[in-house]
Amino acid sequence: MAFEGLTGRLQDAFSGLRKKGKITEADVKDAMREVRLALLEADVNYKVVREFVKTVREKAIGEEVLESINGGQQVVKIVNDELTHLMGGTQEKIIFADRGPTVYMMTGLQGAGKTTTAGKLANYLRKQENKKPMLVAADIYRPAAIDQLQTVGSDLNIPVFSMGDQVSPVEIAEKGIQEAKDTNRDVVIIDTAGRLHIDETLMDELENVKTAVNPHEIFLVVDAMTGQDAVNVANTFNDRLDITSVILTKLDGDTRGGAALSIRSVTQKPIKFTGTGERLDALEPFHPDRMANRILGMGDILTLVERAQQEVDEKKAEEMAVKMRENTYDFNDFIDQMDQMQNMGPMEDLLKMIPGVNQIPGMDQFEMDPKDMAHMKAIVMSMTPEERANPDLLSQKRRRRIAKGSARNIAEVNRMIKQFKQSKEMMSKMSNGNMSGMENLFGG
Ligand code: GDP
Repeated sequence: MAFEGLTGRLQDAFSGLRKKGKITEADVKDAMREVRLALLEADVNYKVVREFVKTVREKAIGEEVLESINGGQQVVKIVNDELTHLMGGTQEKIIFADRGPTVYMMTGLQGAGKTTTAGKLANYLRKQENKKPMLVAADIYRPAAIDQLQTVGSDLNIPVFSMGDQVSPVEIAEKGIQEAKDTNRDVVIIDTAGRLHIDETLMDELENVKTAVNPHEIFLVVDAMTGQDAVNVANTFNDRLDITSVILTKLDGDTRGGAALSIRSVTQKPIKFTGTGERLDALEPFHPDRMANRILGMGDILTLVERAQQEVDEKKAEEMAVKMRENTYDFNDFIDQMDQMQNMGPMEDLLKMIPGVNQIPGMDQFEMDPKDMAHMKAIVMSMTPEERANPDLLSQKRRRRIAKGSARNIAEVNRMIKQFKQSKEMMSKMSNGNMSGMENLFGG
């Protein structure tokens, strides 16, 4: 998970302050020294760090803070506000054309995730903005780039325009837009060439495409894992192309945070999306305030709720609630819910969005093995439909058959059935307003 080191260090820096109540100027200075080191270690640009620390310090040693009875909390609030400000303040929306198709150009170095992100963006626009996107394959140099985009397009069932690799990118882009007009597509996403390093020929070519198609947005796709390098790349692309927005990929990895925190203030261009996984739905609009909360270890309940809204079918959720109340929840429902959870992303990421969870000892080490989920599913799949609907039928003999069928051992099958029964009982109690029994949820 991203930012782990930074979050831990910032929490350490504030733990003394938080406990204190009334604080002194020296307390603020000590804490800010820690914050400075934490940010530098997270690979945040040193000029950005210097400005940031200076602003926070000035605000934090103001009279109001020092005289207040909860000064420590207020310092944390100032840090939160300044982190938000650093990343752009408020969320910036993507730009659409007033008339005719909207044209986007995807740019970035090879490996940053440009092609994947072109697909993710198309998917996002179709799902969230009701658009009819089309992808255009204008990377004619990287072997297999066209094939890759075509695969992405066919996975998503979104059309891909290509003219092979013997035609100039400018011509492909222009003809692609014409094709979009002819076929009634309202957003054209042009995947351009990337290189391993910035070079003049590449920049010239991108400039030519830009001049020819006059895009509404030029997205620069950068890999968050590359830290300061990402910021340098962004600067160069911005100088030459005057990019409009940044998309930061691989925020699901263990990036230290440098790119997310520096890019906006160095380039003055907003981050509009983040990539959070390899799947084509792993793209999220970037919210500076939510990201600041996450960095400070305060969770991100809003993103969690949004993800749930996208994945969870409301009618099903209501049916499920009734089943829980009436104690008729069975293994079929269990599988349904497990599938929905899996669609929302890795369990450990979801847990970390819940405020306070990362302060539970050992939580930073928590990892849910996707294999465990697969094993549970295999066990349920080896039950007959009657057994799934009525777990009371599961005699020892049947359990042995299920163990064999799912290639798990009998102890594992027994454990899972026991846990299922316990949680079922607890859910029924809880949905009838009785909260006792919660303790059974964790290791009962
Ligand atoms: P391009 O050369 O810039 O077009 O990069 P690709 O789209 O081919 O992506 C390079 C690699 O990064 C692929 O293996 C992608 O699956 C992976 N990738 C892209 N975005 C993300 C992301 O947000 N998270 C993770 N974990 N991997 C990503």
